[in-house]
Amino acid sequence: MDRMTREEYIRRGPVRDFLDNYPKTMIAGKQRSFQAQWFEGRPWLEYVKEYDAAFCFACRVFGKAVYDATFQKHGFTQWHRALESKRGFDKHSLSNEYCTSVQAWQDFLLCKPIDSVLDEEKKRQLQQGNQERHDRYCILPLLVDVTSTLGRLRLPFRGHDETVVSDNKGVFLEVLDLIARWNADLESHLSKSRSKPKYYPSYTSPTSQNELINCSAQFFRDIRVKMCKMLNSLLFAWIRLLAQASRTSCPLLMGYCSPALSTYLNTLIRLANLTKIWWILRTQKT
Ligand SMILES: [Zn+2]
Repeated sequence: MDRMTREEYIRRGPVRDFLDNYPKTMIAGKQRSFQAQWFEGRPWLEYVKEYDAAFCFACRVFGKAVYDATFQKHGFTQWHRALESKRGFDKHSLSNEYCTSVQAWQDFLLCKPIDSVLDEEKKRQLQQGNQERHDRYCILPLLVDVTSTLGRLRLPFRGHDETVVSDNKGVFLEVLDLIARWNADLESHLSKSRSKPKYYPSYTSPTSQNELINCSAQFFRDIRVKMCKMLNSLLFAWIRLLAQASRTSCPLLMGYCSPALSTYLNTLIRLANLTKIWWILRTQKT
């Protein structure tokens, strides 16, 4: 029987087959049988229909040795002596071995299954890990903001001595310490990272500072590229519009313009045509 099956078996408790009529056996000239009322006050007592016999669940499962084979292995069937004080149930339940087995049974029931304990511990660790990960991710935008601000102001990040006891840890760490004095989340983050640096990264080490700088720079580079592409698209759309207007003389457009604006638009149209010609020639060349 494996451990899981045994635990389930023990938690299910004694086998107690309740019958309307228990099998009768001729004992000492009388028909005798097990009685259901014998279960009352005897939580250890079990009756197995298959054997038509009574057992002690505590001793059968938790007994360290076979000291009472009747109640542990063979089964008690002497129904006419069941309630005799020196030979029946009471005799068994007064033995030291019985008390030891019952104590072991109770201890087992009070203990949580090891799987349950492990699951709860694993769940607790998982929740703690998720919470810490969430806390760290919440701090990252603040660190990026400080990084981009220092970068925009062209301030040096690093200090010569960045240890906790240093008077000047560098602009980056000093600014973070300043914010932490007013921001409980950052204060908690820095405290945790200082108390267990191996398990809770602070993202403030020299390596992290360089990574933050690189990430911020890459972010702004990407934004600049996207802005350039968008402006180029707008410019070419404008050029196309003007070129189309020049083909049709754009009377409708010109009719609504003042003379000065018409001159300006005509200049732009000519410029657009030249640009268009230049673009076509450039495209054909390549
Ligand atoms: Zn027993």
